[in-house]
Amino acid sequence: MDTHEYLRTQLLDRKSRLLTAMKRGKNEQLNTLLQDVDIALEKMAKGTFGVCETCHDSIEHERIMIDPLARNCLDHLNSEEQRTLEQDLDLAYQVQSRLLPKQDLQVGSWRTAYHYQPAGPVSGDYCDLITPERDDGSLYFFTGDVSGKGVASSILMAQLYAIFRSLTRDSGSMHELVEKANHLFCDSVIIGHFATLVAGKADASGRVEICNAGHCLPILVKGEKVEILSSTGLPLGMFCKSAYTSLSVAMDPEDTLILYSDGVTESRNSSHWQYGEQRLREIVSSNSMLAPQDLLKICVEDVKQFRSGAAPSDDMTILILRRQ
Ligand SMILES: [Zn+2]
Repeated sequence: MDTHEYLRTQLLDRKSRLLTAMKRGKNEQLNTLLQDVDIALEKMAKGTFGVCETCHDSIEHERIMIDPLARNCLDHLNSEEQRTLEQDLDLAYQVQSRLLPKQDLQVGSWRTAYHYQPAGPVSGDYCDLITPERDDGSLYFFTGDVSGKGVASSILMAQLYAIFRSLTRDSGSMHELVEKANHLFCDSVIIGHFATLVAGKADASGRVEICNAGHCLPILVKGEKVEILSSTGLPLGMFCKSAYTSLSVAMDPEDTLILYSDGVTESRNSSHWQYGEQRLREIVSSNSMLAPQDLLKICVEDVKQFRSGAAPSDDMTILILRRQ
């Protein structure tokens, strides 16, 4: 089903629900909503659906997917629409902040530090640390990035959060976990959205199992050596039947693993130069003797310095896992 057809079905469904509700009792609000749905359906028939009534440019794709009744682009909202949007974003920000894991979490011999920075009011990046119910010194860690930006991506980020919080209650290998998550994500995903992700589990013996679904390649620092852990799968939400594999690495005491989103490596300065993976690898390997919190600070500071005043164009996440 294409996007247009999907939204038409959604609108027809809303219309029939409104009509049912109106049979039970008339009220002004239902009437207005019904008029708005009819206007949207009429526009679909005329081929003007998704076009801003003020400037005649396209309305942002993500907004129209969430609210097919939107009539103006973000630049041309009336004051009431603007106020509503601000309130929604504020609430979304609050909800999202509560989904983040505890800072500086320590589990068994594992120490962590993370930096999570939305480019706008809300983020499409996903970052979580989960300790299994039966505390055996192991730790699940996740870093992901939902395609697109804004509210739609942040909703899907919350979806990932819920999926993995629930799936990690059962034991199983990481690729099985990601396979199940992909199925669930495919069921709920807004058409055209997908998520890249690194999902891992570090156990008490130092063994780390990682499944990478098309996300930026994690960096493993072992003493002087820097290893790049290869990717094994496609992003979540792309194909419901994707198969995944996991790779296993042994982390010795003092070894460091760094996960990040492309908002870090694709950061640009005012001359449009890209920060790049190489620079991140170098900064990480030359500072890997520092405590995770200090290493994190240096990485974040280096990206900021590189941007030299240019505003971040994408959400940014860095997650550090250190074996003590
Ligand atoms: Zn407009």
